[in-house]
Amino acid sequence: MIYDAAIIGAGVTGSMIGRELSMLDLKLCIIEKSSDVASGASRANSGIVHAGYDAKPGSMKEKMNVKGNAMMKKTVRELGVPYLRSSRRLVALRAASAHRCFVLCNPSQAQSQLL
Ligand SMILES: Cc1cc2nc3c(=O)[nH]c(=O)nc-3n(C[C@H](O)[C@H](O)[C@H](O)COP(=O)(O)OP(=O)(O)OC[C@H]3O[C@@H](n4cnc5c(N)ncnc54)[C@H](O)[C@@H]3O)c2cc1C
Repeated sequence: MIYDAAIIGAGVTGSMIGRELSMLDLKLCIIEKSSDVASGASRANSGIVHAGYDAKPGSMKEKMNVKGNAMMKKTVRELGVPYLRSSRRLVALRAASAHRCFVLCNPSQAQSQLL
């Protein structure tokens, strides 16, 4: 069998890449060395959907946290998995932090300003 794309590793990264690519007209395979999916770091994680406020400002991690967080509601609905969006209060201790708080609390604006 000839595939258009092969994804190595069925952790959360490979699985989500596979999900995205499955929406295209491609022959895909995911190659996983363990006997089950999510056998590596994905099995150990604490289940926190990071918001991006504690990542280094301007970093890729911050950008991906904000973008990924904004995608969660739609993604979990499509996947049919339970998801608890608990609230957290974000307080700006300095005037300079107020804008950053605003951006992080408004993901759609955050995406356009951070990406
Ligand atoms: C203790 C802990 C807590 C965490 N808590 C959080 C959290 O609360 N929120 C959060 O967002 N992130 C958290 N993380 C980070 C998060 O879990 C990882 O960033 C994420 O799971 C990485 O996913 P991955 O698919 O890239 O890697 P992995 O889940 O490690 O997947 C890689 C897969 O590739 C397979 N593989 C490796 N080599 C090969 C090969 N040669 N051939 C075939 N298959 C191969 C492995 O078996 C594995 O299944 C936590 C991490 C840890 C360790």
